[in-house]
Amino acid sequence: MEVACHAAGPHQVAAARTSTCSLQKKPHGKPDRQCIAHCSNGFRCPRAVQTSFSTRHKACPVPYCERHLKFGDDALKVYQHPKGFGKILVARFNLPKGYRMVYHGLRQTTGTDPHLDPDEDRTLWFYPAPGFEVNGYLDPSPCPGSVLQFAANGGPQEVANIRQNDRSFGHRNGSYGGMEYEASMSIPAGTQLVHNYGSEWWKDRPELKRSNVGTDS
Ligand SMILES: [Zn+2]
Repeated sequence: MEVACHAAGPHQVAAARTSTCSLQKKPHGKPDRQCIAHCSNGFRCPRAVQTSFSTRHKACPVPYCERHLKFGDDALKVYQHPKGFGKILVARFNLPKGYRMVYHGLRQTTGTDPHLDPDEDRTLWFYPAPGFEVNGYLDPSPCPGSVLQFAANGGPQEVANIRQNDRSFGHRNGSYGGMEYEASMSIPAGTQLVHNYGSEWWKDRPELKRSNVGTDS
């Protein structure tokens, strides 16, 4: 479903032609109020973040509007990997260095989530602010709009182009949370998003062999 976020004026058409997303600046010391995703026309989504927390939580909600939470940032596109590595995530527009994306999902604690398949594990540890102590993990698998779950883990010869930063969304013991990632370099449209799950992830999965996921094209 393609939904134009707002009517394009002449200046917007010119900007859309360059297909480079704008860098979403976070308001200093405050939660994002505007959705950080981009729309299919290449412009920053003008909608408000879907939820807000009371100041009691000292935490920020996942900074997407309802639509982008559900369907994912239109600046990113999920594809089937041509060599059978499952789904991959590709930049649909040019992403500037520092482009913000959120890996979000349902918060679970060890033992409460019986459906996890170890081979399909896309969970991520949740380190909510303030304090940033681990508070269960996030399971994005029931959330197709959480498209970062499809970003590949780079093989030994591949360079990661996205990395987790120190921002978290959702509050301690909440039901939903997210961890922020950013583009660690500028990413041209059509490029696959690759991150490094880290040595811990691999240590827990000795049965999986690392291989290069890059495509030849
Ligand atoms: Zn939005």
